[in-house]
Amino acid sequence: MPDTGPSLSPLPPQAGGGAPELRPETFDAVIAGAGPAGAVAALVLARARWRVALVDQPPSAIKLGEALAPGGRIALERLGLQVLGPPHRKIRGQLTAWDGPDLVATDFMASPHGAGWRLDRPVFDHALREAAIAAGVTAITGLVSAPERDGAHWRLADGLSGRWLVDATGRRATLARSLGARVVRDASQIAYYARWTPDVPPGQDRTLVEASEFGWWYGCELPGGQVLVGLHLDRSMALSRGRDQAAWVEGYQATRHIAPRLGPVGADVEWIAPHDASGTVTRPAVGAGWIAVGDAALAFDPISGHGITHAITSAVAGAEALLGDDAAREGYSQHLASLRQHYAPEWRRVQARRLRPVAAPVSASSD
Ligand SMILES: Cc1cc2nc3c(=O)[nH]c(=O)nc-3n(C[C@H](O)[C@H](O)[C@H](O)COP(=O)(O)OP(=O)(O)OC[C@H]3O[C@@H](n4cnc5c(N)ncnc54)[C@H](O)[C@@H]3O)c2cc1C
Repeated sequence: MPDTGPSLSPLPPQAGGGAPELRPETFDAVIAGAGPAGAVAALVLARARWRVALVDQPPSAIKLGEALAPGGRIALERLGLQVLGPPHRKIRGQLTAWDGPDLVATDFMASPHGAGWRLDRPVFDHALREAAIAAGVTAITGLVSAPERDGAHWRLADGLSGRWLVDATGRRATLARSLGARVVRDASQIAYYARWTPDVPPGQDRTLVEASEFGWWYGCELPGGQVLVGLHLDRSMALSRGRDQAAWVEGYQATRHIAPRLGPVGADVEWIAPHDASGTVTRPAVGAGWIAVGDAALAFDPISGHGITHAITSAVAGAEALLGDDAAREGYSQHLASLRQHYAPEWRRVQARRLRPVAAPVSASSD
């Protein structure tokens, strides 16, 4: 038994009516993480009349991941959530130079689900959390860690307890790991992003992707008019080049397609802290009294564009599994395994095709 103390670190409520502080209470489910997966799982459970606590830190003003694939809209509609519309903007597809120097256009018109969306991500995540709260979820400001099992309940700090724990902490899968699960990582990838205000709005309604010598570049125009550009580096390159802003700017200016479309780095450039963008799989994603959803269960390489949609759909599936029986939870586990089984070879195939002026081996994942 660890002699570290309790597990939930309460933070003061935010000014202007933020989440309440922790108070002694027993819930049917305590959900760690209020990103899209946590908020949607909370919503589904609350609609089934479960008492749900949704625990997270105060949201940050920056959140990466702003392209919602067309299927994401369908998932939201199935939940009856009307959260798309201004300030979010429709996008038509993607322009990609991946396995050769020229751009290839992907048009969402070819998708039966229609357009994709460029999200104002903090606004989007906030709207999902508000929908959960409106359904009766209790939002709590804090961090969940090292939960202790007490009979049929989990005991957390400050008297908070729950029958079920839901890990929606993102690709770190903090809770699942603390409960003995292993996170298997595909080839490591670190993302270095910056955003700025362009002198002239580029008028881009597609996502731009371009493979480079060291990894790949991502570029888009955000709903508020800024541009967002990211360099995704293999870990071997990340340590030497990632934090070098001058090298980043030089690399960006040398892009064949993205810089000419989005313009030079602006004077108000804002550097965003590096993000781990590796694909991961958590094994197991379901245990005695707990379940993982969203990135905490299975995270995709951002090149796939699946992340937010999977966060929503896996949260629905995970919540329904909690509402069901052991067989339902086993079904959820198998569903995740099947997604991973289809994704892993496809991901390896896409990586192997990536244009590499400097040849580098693609690390194979363990499955
Ligand atoms: C660089 C990059 C670019 C991306 N681009 C796209 C894109 O364009 N389109 C797309 O669909 N996806 C994209 N993704 C992926 C997408 O952002 C994620 O798949 C999605 O956010 C997963 O949602 P989630 O709710 O599972 O986790 P998250 O959104 O990561 O939310 C996890 C939450 O858990 C909280 N938390 C963590 N630990 C604790 C704890 N101990 N207790 C309580 N709370 C905790 C965090 O504060 C956070 O709010 C991108 C990812 C990266 C890294």
